[in-house]
Amino acid sequence: MDNAAILRTEGLSKTYGNGLEKTIALDNVDLQITRGKLLAVCGPSGSGKTTLLFLLGGLDKPTSGRIYFEGVEVSNMNERRLSKLRRKAFGFVFQNYNLVDELTVLENVMLTMMFEGKRDAERKDRAEELLRRVEVTGKERRRPSQLSAGEQQRVAVARAVANRPELVLMDEPTGNLDQENSQQLMRLVADMVREEGATFVVATHNLEIVNEAPSKIFLKSGRIVSG
Ligand code: ADP
Repeated sequence: MDNAAILRTEGLSKTYGNGLEKTIALDNVDLQITRGKLLAVCGPSGSGKTTLLFLLGGLDKPTSGRIYFEGVEVSNMNERRLSKLRRKAFGFVFQNYNLVDELTVLENVMLTMMFEGKRDAERKDRAEELLRRVEVTGKERRRPSQLSAGEQQRVAVARAVANRPELVLMDEPTGNLDQENSQQLMRLVADMVREEGATFVVATHNLEIVNEAPSKIFLKSGRIVSG
């Protein structure tokens, strides 16, 4: 195996439904994802970006094909092992994975570190430092709904990296943001890639992200059309 690849897929396919309702969302995708970089997953709506991210993050199972994380097959892991892996090694910024409004902004960022047996003070220091880095300061005690969309999304990025995951998956992170907020978010994500050493996979329509990404793939009807 290529040592630089943190994730690798072999003939990855995902079909939803059957008969006339059948949709081939991913069709035989072979992919190697380089460690410590940002990979942009591009393509029109319905091309399979979200499906790919769900499979890579162990949130759904492929219909066929395999996924290896650090050389270990994850596509056949049981839910218990998968959820442990997700908690320890993955971070998510997904549309349907919102911040918890019953908690403060600071507590939201601390939450992902809860299972790692770190002391409260250590978790708090790390969360405060991350909130500074994503440029959300002075609002640590607020509820997420009291922040702007751009701030909420930056808190989501802080939360995703808090536990020092090896892999961060982001689905349309700039989907609800204006241009200025999108640019700020992606500049901070680029800093995170450099400083945290994590691998980021970002599904997006945003051409600015695509143009600046060091590596990218384009999906069309569930197939990689160019790399
Ligand atoms: P993208 O993220 O690029 O918009 P998706 O991965 O969401 O693409 O969807 C790929 C294809 O799979 C689309 O045709 C979509 O309608 C279909 N699809 C996605 N999720 C489901 C589902 N849960 N049930 C049935 N079809 C689905």
